[in-house]
Amino acid sequence: MVSKREHRALRRGVETYLDGEADPGLAVSVRRHLAACWACSADAEWLVLIKGALGQIGDRRPPELAVARLARYASTLSERR
Ligand SMILES: [Zn+2]
Repeated sequence: MVSKREHRALRRGVETYLDGEADPGLAVSVRRHLAACWACSADAEWLVLIKGALGQIGDRRPPELAVARLARYASTLSERR
């Protein structure tokens, strides 16, 4: 059983731990907490999925159609002068 006090104290540490930024002491505490706390382990699973999905977005160039629209819009703005 996880105490609310422990849950509140380690809840923010979960993301720090998942980012690989937790010091060794915090990492041990978070791993132990994740093994016992349903709420934090569920949050951790979501965070892993979200961070994994964001990591797969490598190519951030705008699509060609959007570039063409922007160019057309820019030319209409310059024609108004
Ligand atoms: Zn928790």
